[in-house]
Amino acid sequence: MYPIDYFWRSAERFPDNIAVISSDGALTYRELARQVLEEAARLTALDAGEDAAVCIGAANSVDHLIQILAVLAAGQIWVPLNPRNGDPELRRIVEFVDPVAIFLDDAMAARLSEVSPQPRALGSKSGETAPPDRVKLGPASPVGVPLDRTQAIKFTGGTTGTPKGVMQPLRAWNTNIITQLAELKLTARDRYLVAAPLTHGTSTYMLPFLAAGGTLVFPAESKPADLLDTAERHAVTVLFAPPTLIFALMDEQQRQPRDLHALRYLVYGGAPMRPEKIRKAQSLFGDVLCTSYGQTEAPQIVTFLPPEMMTGEMMGSVGRATAMTQMAILSPDGRRLPVGEEGEIAVRGDLVMTGYFNAPEETAKVMTDGWLRTGDAGVMDEQGYLFMRDRLRDVIITGGFNVYPSDVEVVISRHPLVSDCSVVGIPDAKWGEAVHAAIELRDAGTLDTDALIASIKSELGSVKAPKEIHIFDALPRSAVGKTVKSAVRSEILRRQGVSA
Ligand code: ATP
Repeated sequence: MYPIDYFWRSAERFPDNIAVISSDGALTYRELARQVLEEAARLTALDAGEDAAVCIGAANSVDHLIQILAVLAAGQIWVPLNPRNGDPELRRIVEFVDPVAIFLDDAMAARLSEVSPQPRALGSKSGETAPPDRVKLGPASPVGVPLDRTQAIKFTGGTTGTPKGVMQPLRAWNTNIITQLAELKLTARDRYLVAAPLTHGTSTYMLPFLAAGGTLVFPAESKPADLLDTAERHAVTVLFAPPTLIFALMDEQQRQPRDLHALRYLVYGGAPMRPEKIRKAQSLFGDVLCTSYGQTEAPQIVTFLPPEMMTGEMMGSVGRATAMTQMAILSPDGRRLPVGEEGEIAVRGDLVMTGYFNAPEETAKVMTDGWLRTGDAGVMDEQGYLFMRDRLRDVIITGGFNVYPSDVEVVISRHPLVSDCSVVGIPDAKWGEAVHAAIELRDAGTLDTDALIASIKSELGSVKAPKEIHIFDALPRSAVGKTVKSAVRSEILRRQGVSA
């Protein structure tokens, strides 16, 4: 099957189910299928080749969803343009993939007027339309699926350098759909709150929910209060969000509790969540917090830790490899390491990308014998539960010792005045690298940094204790809300330069 076929099959099985709810009303599967087909016919009329790329840049909306599904139905390659990326970066992506069409909402059109081809307005009905039966992967898609063909090229957030175009093949999408269906036990009664951007987090949930015959619920606004109100009003069952958004939802739920009895899974991913935050989320939302580990190179559901496992020691785990994915911990020279030894997390199976777009050397750096080296450090226990450490490049080597920033961040973030923190290595004449911490304060407190360093020293020892603590108004965050350690490092270096 093609990934879009899961949607067509649902449209046949559940034509009167509600596929989408938004402030404009509800769309049944029959109606959504009709609109997707109409839009796909317009794309088909472009008469583009097999590997034509179509860029879509927009905030979340039903039109955005329809446009993505239409690109898949037309047999073209979807290239999301994340509105939270900078304009020069977005222009570079467009030039790099040379799309056959670009669709933008009004806000994005104002930012990207000079790109080629001329952007079209999302949701506009202009342009030639091919007969619906010419739509390549419409309700009667051909059988015999070239599973290595690219379904999407996604540019990674760039928390680790230059953005790279990850080519996700059809088989990775199919594997993600089947795995999410199984792990989350999705049915036609499930309702997914579209809180994360369609360009990023939601893109791995959209087709699994449509495959189940469930409903995608679009909030009118993306403020935490709107998200929770919408979740309550429409009895949402699943919500995925990165930790930064979950923290905002926690504050809002504490301010004004909503009845979220239908919620089965509150999935966090993309960045770690510390145990005290996990406990707090559980106390506010019930035993629904769970996590899955993945990356753009192996979309999302490499591992899954269900809510009933999110207790005690397991709060530090991201779960076990899912049914269709193999996982191993590798040494720097590529050997598989035994249980309990720390190394690089590697992933193998149909979920894995085919490579980086037009960058064979970059691909060769991370793929060997079908194994994708994720760049993340981790350790597996005897039952195969993965405990993620940090990005390998973030490990600090100080005086010959390895320090995992997260070990120190866990301790710092327990301080009542600390709202968020990031620990990084800064070049140091004596230690090679020295441990430094950047801290964002809760409200307008005054932190006794010497006392905090002393208490970290007594808990973790002097190697892991920060040599210096720097107060940031706000930590630098990526387009998807993750702390960007390279930017934290640059800011500390800049301050050192200024004070020197
Ligand atoms: P780049 O790869 O350029 O740094 P990015 O961080 O935005 O950009 P993504 O593919 O969106 O890339 O994020 C994947 C990364 O997020 C993983 O490699 C891992 O470091 C982290 N991550 C994913 N899931 C979890 C999780 N459940 N817990 C902790 N960290 C996670």
